[in-house]
Amino acid sequence: MSTSFKCDFCTSGNIQHVHDPINSTRGMKVYVCMKCGLVQSISTSAYSSAPPGSMSGDANRSSYRYTKELVFDNYLQLFKSHINFADLERVLDIGSNRGIFVHWALDNFPHILIDAIEPQQSVVESYCDHQNVSLKIARFEDVQLNENTYDFVYCVHTLEHARSASQMMTQSYRSLKPGGILFLAVPQTLLFHNNLVEEIFIDPHTFHFDLNILVDFSSQLGFKTVYSSRNEDAEVILILKKEVAHIGNFVPSNQDAAQDNVRKIADYQKGLHDNRVLLRKIGAELNDLSLTGSLIIWGAGRLFDLLVREGGLVTSRVTVVFDKVLYKFINKSHDCVISKARPRTELDESSVIVFIASREYAAEIKAEANKLGYEKIISFTDFFSD
Ligand SMILES: [Zn+2]
Repeated sequence: MSTSFKCDFCTSGNIQHVHDPINSTRGMKVYVCMKCGLVQSISTSAYSSAPPGSMSGDANRSSYRYTKELVFDNYLQLFKSHINFADLERVLDIGSNRGIFVHWALDNFPHILIDAIEPQQSVVESYCDHQNVSLKIARFEDVQLNENTYDFVYCVHTLEHARSASQMMTQSYRSLKPGGILFLAVPQTLLFHNNLVEEIFIDPHTFHFDLNILVDFSSQLGFKTVYSSRNEDAEVILILKKEVAHIGNFVPSNQDAAQDNVRKIADYQKGLHDNRVLLRKIGAELNDLSLTGSLIIWGAGRLFDLLVREGGLVTSRVTVVFDKVLYKFINKSHDCVISKARPRTELDESSVIVFIASREYAAEIKAEANKLGYEKIISFTDFFSD
């Protein structure tokens, strides 16, 4: 099925509708460009660009905007190895958010001048009046950038929200001085776990990248790749140096990318359906176990949301829900109060059942639960074979 939309990267009109995200409040439809393989979501209804945070396991999920804080430590090592901040004068921060990068840069390199662009006024208070910072409260697309101006452009977890990713990349390229560096990071969405139950094509994301297409597109734009994360990493991180500009449209190097992505997304849909059926079994088992002891759910994110909504977990039988990050952002989820982890409870440890509702932090939580003396620990991932 083709539409009147064109691919944002290669401008081909041959784009195929492959997926309708579950419970999209934006009426999102996911398309694959059959020429270059780019995966885009196209909205069919009006939507607020900064919805309140939601830990839904469906497409209406939106982050509490703490992702940028969580990932920053990983970047510091890369900065150290690849970028000489002492030599930088002018820096552009696209999507400066709460200012984690701005604060780090000014604390360590107080001579640097930073232009920051951030659409949300409510998060910029800590740095908006700093003498080295020139802040624009706007969407990137509405800001006019000067050419050949910056030594460094920082664009982290922003490109996947763009109205046009190619425009954001091209504008970043033009705004850099020759030899200037673009630091780019996005989630590697098309890397699907076999135990996915949550919708991956969420409403705030208009683009869904993999490493290869971004490397290909950047190099054709005129960037040299100084550093690249690996194919199997959950995040695409690229350090790109501006070299001579490429003239002309993007022509994909990998002719199979489109078919590969169509197939991957079809497999994802089937996996999502089957795994949600399994979720009902997990919910039933937890309901049974809750009759034999105190049930602790550790992890209050999207897996917990789906356990309740899809798995039929009876929340009145849950003794407590722990989450050592989310408790800062939300008090309650599905009537359960979210408590900080590392609990000191008065529960009889031997009668407690701990269910780990996390994939990424499962090992960490298990170690912590063991340390607290809990013996019966079950993990979401136990129900899936690798
Ligand atoms: Zn394309």
